[in-house]
Amino acid sequence: MTRVFGSPESYVQGRGATAEIGDHAASLGGSALLLADGVVLDLVEADATESLESNDIDVETELFEGECSAAEIERVGELASEVDADFVIGAGGGKALDTAKAVGEDLGIGVVSMPTIASTDAPCSALSVIYSEHGEFQEYRFLDRHPDLVLVDTALVASAPTRFFTSGIGDALATWFEADATKRSDSDNVLGGRDTDAGHQLAKFCYDQLRESGVSAVDAVENDAVTPSVESVTEANTLLSGLGFESGGLAAAHAIHNGLTQLEATHEATHGEKVNVGTLSQLVLEGRSDEFVEDVVRFSLDVDLPVTLAEIGLDDPTDDQLTTVAEAACAPDETIHNEPFDVTPEAVRDAIRTADAIGERVSSRY
Ligand SMILES: [Zn+2]
Repeated sequence: MTRVFGSPESYVQGRGATAEIGDHAASLGGSALLLADGVVLDLVEADATESLESNDIDVETELFEGECSAAEIERVGELASEVDADFVIGAGGGKALDTAKAVGEDLGIGVVSMPTIASTDAPCSALSVIYSEHGEFQEYRFLDRHPDLVLVDTALVASAPTRFFTSGIGDALATWFEADATKRSDSDNVLGGRDTDAGHQLAKFCYDQLRESGVSAVDAVENDAVTPSVESVTEANTLLSGLGFESGGLAAAHAIHNGLTQLEATHEATHGEKVNVGTLSQLVLEGRSDEFVEDVVRFSLDVDLPVTLAEIGLDDPTDDQLTTVAEAACAPDETIHNEPFDVTPEAVRDAIRTADAIGERVSSRY
């Protein structure tokens, strides 16, 4: 079996890293298009432009219109062609980054991914999630290339709302359990091959880093502070989780997340918040011990991640609703089938119900 591992060309992270972007992007060419929404542009434009120009890189800026849609990718692509950009920089959240990645692929030019929040594992991947212009999920677009550069300014990450950072922990906390299930079932990772030892161990390391530093990192971010814990957890949320999910593999947690998105009541909850409910459900589905599941629940509570369905908008879900979620999670092409046993909608529905009950019990006594 062929083992496959993929990663961005380079990764840069630190307080004030925005002001170094030109030094790290100089090999990509002499002309850049910077794509960001108005709020993000206010945060990064001055430092990024100065750094790019001091490295003889001309930069044009363009406002991101909010959705990673086919129309937006085409619009930005045309602009990048007009200014003859050698590379495109996407700054902000996952949708701006995913748009920049798709534009780079379409035009065959370089891509810099500059997340200003650490809320998901999207920045490092060779994947864009495509939405309609109204924000409905349409498809995963798998790209041929990873970003050339991922640059994370931890001062921006720490000063953003804490919920983004916590959501990133939720997304990252799933990584090890899903990669491990993929290995135990001898299934393919997201890149379409078996995992390397490196991919597997990075997923494990992601989990260890979160457990070691996650709680104090959230304390710091609540106070807009950058500490070594914030650096470690930002790296876990962004780099380790990104490499871990792509090169390690996905399993039940993300499939249950995808199922939960079927219910409109969950739409206010973030990706990472829903993934965390998926993770706890995965652990129950796998028959982990009481002690093990409760330990992950307590950690979730410590970093303020949801552990019950009510916390992600499902106050009193009916059996029909949970069956809808479970059936979507068990769709034939879903990653839940990377679990090392046969999975049925009934088993998934019962695992979700039970994980919810455990979460409620532990949080009421904790
Ligand atoms: Zn995710």
